[in-house]
Amino acid sequence: MEERVLRKLICSIKCSSCGQPYEAQNVEVLGCSDEMWFVQALCSSCHTQSLVVAMVRKERQSAPLTDLNKSEMGKFMVSGAVSSDDLLQMHEYLKAFDGDFTGLFESQKT
Ligand SMILES: [Zn+2]
Repeated sequence: MEERVLRKLICSIKCSSCGQPYEAQNVEVLGCSDEMWFVQALCSSCHTQSLVVAMVRKERQSAPLTDLNKSEMGKFMVSGAVSSDDLLQMHEYLKAFDGDFTGLFESQKT
């Protein structure tokens, strides 16, 4: 995270003594270690100095969003990419398809 963003974040919190929001020029980033940021903030109203420790979680890679189950996932992992031949085949098929879905699924069963 950038210091600029952190500064903005600190300005959105209020002084614990008087409740006034901190001002950007009174916020000093002291340093950071891993996910912890140490910030010193001076309240411009009551001049109370506060030490703010901000925890910043690093972005984690989230699991892919899918409605495939495990076995379907495995099936598509090993099957190759859709080729132009596949598309052509589908195109030919759809051209000939008469819209009879019931018939289509009946024939798939056997
Ligand atoms: Zn204050």
